[in-house]
Amino acid sequence: MDRESDPVAALVATVAERSISYDGLSVSKSDGLYTFETTERQVTDLTASALGETAAGDPFVDNWFHWTQRSRSTAEQAFLRWVEHAEERSVPERDAALTSGGVVREWGQLRITATVVDGDRRYELRHSDDRDADPAELERFVDPRKAREIATTDDKGRYRPLKTAPSLSTGWLFPELTGASLVEAIDFFYPATIQNWSLEREGELDVTNWAAAADRQSGIYAMVDELSGEQLEWLTEACCVDSQCLKRREWDAADGEEIDTPRGAGAFPCREPCSVVISAARKWTQIEREDTERYTFELTPSEKDQLEALVAAVADGRIDEIREAEFSDPANRQRARYLRAKRFDAEGSLSTESERPS
Ligand code: SF4
Repeated sequence: MDRESDPVAALVATVAERSISYDGLSVSKSDGLYTFETTERQVTDLTASALGETAAGDPFVDNWFHWTQRSRSTAEQAFLRWVEHAEERSVPERDAALTSGGVVREWGQLRITATVVDGDRRYELRHSDDRDADPAELERFVDPRKAREIATTDDKGRYRPLKTAPSLSTGWLFPELTGASLVEAIDFFYPATIQNWSLEREGELDVTNWAAAADRQSGIYAMVDELSGEQLEWLTEACCVDSQCLKRREWDAADGEEIDTPRGAGAFPCREPCSVVISAARKWTQIEREDTERYTFELTPSEKDQLEALVAAVADGRIDEIREAEFSDPANRQRARYLRAKRFDAEGSLSTESERPS
């Protein structure tokens, strides 16, 4: 066995060059003899061969080997350790959990279960709404690149322009990913979220505020820099809160100019206004260029309530939940049709008179 594949060979070769201190394991050399120490035991005055015998099969050594002797990016390493609570739990605690049922973490709408199979980490990935589903009832995938396809449409087959919208489809399962393929799959589901989360932990997340993002827009989007601070509040309320996007908004209007809209509680940060928000901002800039007018039309109090309820039902994505013939719900489809037949003209406009406010 060599140090590439054998934890003991790697440990003995490493400590011949430098001391080891990692996750509760300390191994050092002094005057030609070794000291081996974990939170469970301490053995001193070891020769190199006695060190090898002492280290063989020790879970702290296997843990050190797993986390230090394989090539991973900083983000991948930090994320995989986060998945199994490596910073908060001891090696024996983690080993016990990984070998008996696994360690569960959620990342947006993804549910990750880490286990140890044949001495190595394996990761199951599924939708968090499928937490109790029988694996036999879920569609199984092996190739992490399939995540790109799954992420394209929601459960109704509608295209998802914003990958971090809370509309990920259900019914699929990646039963046994490696650490690298787990990270690859997540990068298809939620692009760059692991990298940005890791940068944020390192204090190196590069945030671009609205003013700078709007400034660099050109062509048909150049107009978005006209939005006022108040309109930015409305924009972030419309697009960026937790019910609409799972990222935690870290950008603001400008340096020192915070946006009051809740940032969200997501695990991963949003470092700049995304293309969906820029596109929405263009539409609202066009609308905000219009002058207001005063309209006169008649509604009963119930009809006014109904119009308000219809806007709320669309804004909250509740339309699909309203049952046929549920006439007590003001946003019921037949009630909306009745209102249209009664109050709207043949072109679908509210019968009204309008005037510019003086
Ligand atoms: S700008 Fe808003 S909607 Fe877009 S990714 Fe960031 S938080 Fe989500």
